[in-house]
Amino acid sequence: MADQIPTFKLVLVGDGGVGKTTFVKRHVTGEFEKKYVATLGVEVHPLKFHTTRGEIIFNVWDTAGQEKFGGLRDGYYIQGQCAIIMFDVTSRVTYKNVPNWHRDLVRVCENIPIVLCGNKVDIKDRKVKAKAIVFHRKKNLQYYDISAKSNYNFEKPFLWLARKLVGDANLEFVAMPALQPPDIKMDPNLAAQYEQELQAAVEVALPDDDDDL
Ligand code: GDP
Ligand code: MG
Repeated sequence: MADQIPTFKLVLVGDGGVGKTTFVKRHVTGEFEKKYVATLGVEVHPLKFHTTRGEIIFNVWDTAGQEKFGGLRDGYYIQGQCAIIMFDVTSRVTYKNVPNWHRDLVRVCENIPIVLCGNKVDIKDRKVKAKAIVFHRKKNLQYYDISAKSNYNFEKPFLWLARKLVGDANLEFVAMPALQPPDIKMDPNLAAQYEQELQAAVEVALPDDDDDL
């Protein structure tokens, strides 16, 4: 039965240190069942979710740190069916590099659903604020604030991707996967503030320039 579960390759990219590995390891069974692809130096985590349309598995590809030394090999991207581009909201340079990751990704995976995630929103000294995050609006990606260490919004990118891949905008998760207990607690007031700021940012017209960011 297991091989009948719809399964999708999810390519996870972004600068070194933004929290990609921390994020993917939150999902308990995915971490337990991960496989190492020695030829590429990649760990593949099968993350299973229970939805109103049945089960779905994201095979999340995570590097062993090769991104710190430049781009990733094509084999990392090939046959990617969806993607998460991650940056760190406390590091402007990681946001500045998002267009490069996007370019590398779409060069191989032309038309796949992509979510942009700003990680580490638990940190009080945030540098990349909601109103500065516009790349996704120019390229039709979805954006979420996340905090891997607190599990904040962990499921959001997967839910959005599942809806796109299954073709059902009303798909819901019927149960949450088991996650590692949070290492830190996201301050609910800060979370509410950020949600408001993101909402407000949507109402603002895009700057009328052809800059990438
Ligand atoms: P990667 O290179 O993108 O895989 O990043 P890692 O997962 O190795 O994380 C880099 C560093 O950021 C580690 O010290 C993590 O503990 C830290 N980190 C990851 N996610 C978060 C987060 O959500 N909040 C905070 N405060 N730190 C995080
Ligand atoms: Mg890593």
